[in-house]
Amino acid sequence: MKEGNFKNEAGWNFHNRYGELPPVFYKRQMPEPVREPRLVILNGGLAESLGLDNRVLQSKSGAEAFAGNEPPEGAEPLAQAYAGHQFGHFTMLGDGRAILLGEQITPSGERVDIQLKGAGRTPYSRGGDGRAGLGPMLREYMISEAMHALGIPTTRSLAVVTTGESIIRETEQTGAILTRVAASHLRVGTFQYASRFGSEGDLRALADYAIERHYPEAAEAENPYLALLQGVIKRQASLVAKWQLAGFIHGVMNTDNMTISGETIDYGPCAFMDTFDPSTVFSSIDRQGRYAYANQPPIAGWNLARFAETLLPLLHEEEEKSLQLAQEAISAFPKQYHSNWLKGMRAKLGLFGEEEEDKVLIEELLGMMHEQKADYTNTFRDLTFDRREGSSLYDLEQFDGWEKRWQERKDRQKESREEVLKSMKNSNPAVIPRNHRVEEALEAAVERGDLSVMMNLLEVLSKPYAHSSEQEEYSAPPPPTDPPYRTFCGT
Ligand code: AMP
Ligand code: MG
Repeated sequence: MKEGNFKNEAGWNFHNRYGELPPVFYKRQMPEPVREPRLVILNGGLAESLGLDNRVLQSKSGAEAFAGNEPPEGAEPLAQAYAGHQFGHFTMLGDGRAILLGEQITPSGERVDIQLKGAGRTPYSRGGDGRAGLGPMLREYMISEAMHALGIPTTRSLAVVTTGESIIRETEQTGAILTRVAASHLRVGTFQYASRFGSEGDLRALADYAIERHYPEAAEAENPYLALLQGVIKRQASLVAKWQLAGFIHGVMNTDNMTISGETIDYGPCAFMDTFDPSTVFSSIDRQGRYAYANQPPIAGWNLARFAETLLPLLHEEEEKSLQLAQEAISAFPKQYHSNWLKGMRAKLGLFGEEEEDKVLIEELLGMMHEQKADYTNTFRDLTFDRREGSSLYDLEQFDGWEKRWQERKDRQKESREEVLKSMKNSNPAVIPRNHRVEEALEAAVERGDLSVMMNLLEVLSKPYAHSSEQEEYSAPPPPTDPPYRTFCGT
């Protein structure tokens, strides 16, 4: 027998546990109905893997469900409470425009959150209208699905509907709601909230829930809460290494935007880097460059230290011992991150085994790429397919020397050329969601109601390691822009 309370036409199979947590963690909140829900895009493959019937979801009742007008059977809508450090400053936040419908149990027995983003005001909305615009929601859809295809853990996007209502930002926009699917929406900020505003019992209940949901093996450990902390650190070390390897810049790594599950969440001002430059920042509000590309690993470490602090009362009865355990766990993060990154970089260069000099080899290449303003993604593609044109990088004498040493390093390993090529093809994407392509797709969809540009882009992005001929035109870097590309939070 499958777990779950309901079975119905669409296949919703909710079994909601978050709502069994102490009441400080949420407020029951129905989505605010909208005038005229219309389905813009539905993720058929994802729907199927969730056990949902695409035919039903595409019908009027699907749009009504995704708009929050008629929440699916078994849904128990609520807004989650959380706090967080935003650009270093602690604030009370919470779901201001997102409503959790419930936890879907999939046919394979997984449990995922189904959340409507832009579903109306909640007790945590502060001054906001609880709504979202079509452009930002389609942008999240495209980038999150591209991240998933790249093999980077992420929340997913199931559907976007328009509401038939306008929202007012700098300009008037088409209102929309995104259905987000996540391993859960537990954040570092949820623990910060518990620690600041809840009792020790509340905190323990939250930690137990996180263990049950994401780290069941921690329950068996001698110190389950320490195992939870170590588990989150390990997953984040892996996640942020994947971001760096793909050239992904999250843009707003506040502690409320860091998950306990280890998934990427909150696609506001994020963007992929074209030209390799560690100081790249896209977000218009990140004036100090706090969340620049090169800062992402240390910021993740900082966020995890905030997480560790919240767990202090649970780690040990004695405060000093607790601190010691937390510090030990946190101090492992930079090393874990670095070893994930190095492993990934070796794969990108087709290097098997480990040699002392690998790090120097990698860093020398990155140094030259930075100096020559080389395209990050395409440089690794060029190396994969033995192409040496289109960048001043390849004219450098230093590059010749580097290439010779890279070749010698590959000659020292027993793996064949085919194996090297395979590793490189699987680690170096042909396409990433380049900003100019994403903008082009959004412009067509939002301004002209033409979804075909976005659909084509999504298709290409769904197989980033295919290296097919159709992908060729999508791999071109953008024409130089002046001023540089900027992203906005889109709230
Ligand atoms: P974000 O920048 O998306 O991480 O959001 C930060 C906080 O602002 C969260 O608590 C959001 O729920 C809240 N928020 C963002 N946009 C809105 C909105 N339009 N209405 C109400 N709350 C919002
Ligand atoms: Mg957020």
